[in-house]
Amino acid sequence: MTEKKVKPLNVVAVFAHPDDEAGVIGTLANHADKGDNVYAIFLTRGENASSLCCSPEEIIKIRTGHAKEIEKILGAEYRLLDLPDSGVHPSVENANKLAVHFKEIKPDIIITWTQAPHLGIGHPDHRYTYNITLDAISYARYKNDDHTHQPHREPVGLYTNYFAIGNPDKPFFVDVSNQYEKIMSVIDVYIEAYGQWPVKDYITAQLMMHGRMAGVRFAEAYNKILWRTAQPYLY
Ligand SMILES: [Zn+2]
Repeated sequence: MTEKKVKPLNVVAVFAHPDDEAGVIGTLANHADKGDNVYAIFLTRGENASSLCCSPEEIIKIRTGHAKEIEKILGAEYRLLDLPDSGVHPSVENANKLAVHFKEIKPDIIITWTQAPHLGIGHPDHRYTYNITLDAISYARYKNDDHTHQPHREPVGLYTNYFAIGNPDKPFFVDVSNQYEKIMSVIDVYIEAYGQWPVKDYITAQLMMHGRMAGVRFAEAYNKILWRTAQPYLY
């Protein structure tokens, strides 16, 4: 019996700042390992990081270098857009900037920040990234001013970072037990940017807690928002 050829999925993570993807690295690695096309799009270049040295221009260079290193670790493509760090705001213009990438990549799955009102105020860039991503999924369905790419009208599976505190929704777990080393390698690239935050302990604790809830060693957790007839693709 010949095996049915499965078309690779296009998986896109959208975050505000490079290093925001700490909670989803294992999932991106799972998909890259299976031969899917994996992208991470950051709306800003993270030039406002107080933990990193020097001028915004120099920080952008450092961040771009980080992205190149991580692309190699994960086998993913990283794109840094040019919205201002700490100045991300939902607008038609900004959503269309992201929609152009969705039209080009044609994502089957999109992962992004949760809007998470239960988290309190959080970073405005994170909250607005959720809004911009939702709007961009819609705008990618139309021509608008972009005549380079065809509209993307296929269903999209949308996942947001899960945070346990006060979250009434049931999480969707992804088993990332085989990806712990890669996750830590990516965190190592960013370690300076995280500053004093004990990021490795925090991420390990989260992976273990979600793993415990899912019945595996390490897991990442999401809220799943299926878009129209999208399938629950993420693994
Ligand atoms: Zn951030």
